[in-house]
Amino acid sequence: MQHTSYIEISKSAYAKNIDFLRSEVGKKTEISIVVKGNAYGHGIENIVPLAEENGIRHFSTFSSDEAFRVYNSSLHNSQVMIMGMLENADLEEITLKGISFFVFEFDRLEAAISTAKKLKKKAKVHIEVETGFHRTGFEWEDREKLAKILQENQDCLDLKGLCTHYAGAESISNYVRVRRQIKEYKRFKKWFSAQRLIFEKYHTACSAATLSYPETVMDMVRIGIASYGLWPTMETYMYRFQSLPENNKNPLKRLISWKSSVMNTKKVDMGEFIGYGSSYMAPRNMSIALVPIGYGHGYSRLLSNQGKVLVRGKMVTVVGTVTMNSIAVDVTDVEDVSKGDEVVIIGCQQDKEITVASFGESTQQVNYELLTRLPLDIPRKVVD
Ligand SMILES: *Cc1c(COP(=O)(O)O)cnc(C)c1O
Repeated sequence: MQHTSYIEISKSAYAKNIDFLRSEVGKKTEISIVVKGNAYGHGIENIVPLAEENGIRHFSTFSSDEAFRVYNSSLHNSQVMIMGMLENADLEEITLKGISFFVFEFDRLEAAISTAKKLKKKAKVHIEVETGFHRTGFEWEDREKLAKILQENQDCLDLKGLCTHYAGAESISNYVRVRRQIKEYKRFKKWFSAQRLIFEKYHTACSAATLSYPETVMDMVRIGIASYGLWPTMETYMYRFQSLPENNKNPLKRLISWKSSVMNTKKVDMGEFIGYGSSYMAPRNMSIALVPIGYGHGYSRLLSNQGKVLVRGKMVTVVGTVTMNSIAVDVTDVEDVSKGDEVVIIGCQQDKEITVASFGESTQQVNYELLTRLPLDIPRKVVD
């Protein structure tokens, strides 16, 4: 099958991101790379071996199907951790494969224990506690019942972690809430320790917490977006900007580039409409180039008459509406554009760049959303 565009994933950028993150968290803290959402659109099967080449041995997923994919692509027996959804029916396979998982309710805890008993193999659990995110996590009031079950089932449970997740560490508007969460987590930790319940790893931090709240960096951090070379928000970047060394103000490098090529070129007379309907009338005699990517490939319709791409080192604008499979761009001022020329949708060409953030700003999507919406069937290739 022929593809109309492709995504490149940069190995060297990845290595730089991991180096930077290691320097941030120090030697004693393990980095777990979050690969939910198909590794933020990059492809689990691409990212796992790449991360392992860079010394990573721990991965976090949302669901059990993603965890099995990580398990199958790991070449170094890395630890896999499920942070969200699993069916109790999956617990046998999960336990046999030594995959660890968040437990935030008694039902799952009991299922984990009975599976472990049946298999005569310990279940690896991370106890998630409610500190203020209010989505998942055991409540403070649950602690005694919970502690009792954990103590009575020490032979079936491997207490891999005590964890929580922050409700928006990427924005100052949540500052007070996050501070309260840190305090609440410490209260749980202390209480469990007093009951002689010790966990292998204490972990709470995502990218934003790691970069803006150093005290949330404990035995392990769960890093998603930053490992893919994007700041969680501009705010997080601003917060850190001053403290970044003068010679490296941009330590996070975007991994992906998204590229296509010119499919056709055409002359359009002044006064004619371009594409469907009448959203764009040619204000002069124009040359346009057709590029075979559209909203069906994740290129938002909101970019109609607005999106930018790079052709022959020049930044050019989408004219008319984005259709399902193509866009037209104005190449009147670019010389010699012809069929087959490279078109960059995200990434660099000569001295120009289109960033994920700039793309996101015009469509009101956050970095996370744009990446995970890139369709699975666009081929991804890892490049140096
Ligand atoms: C997604 C997620 C992370 C990683 O978040 P980033 O902002 O991408 O670093 C960490 N922990 C949990 C529980 C998550 O769901």
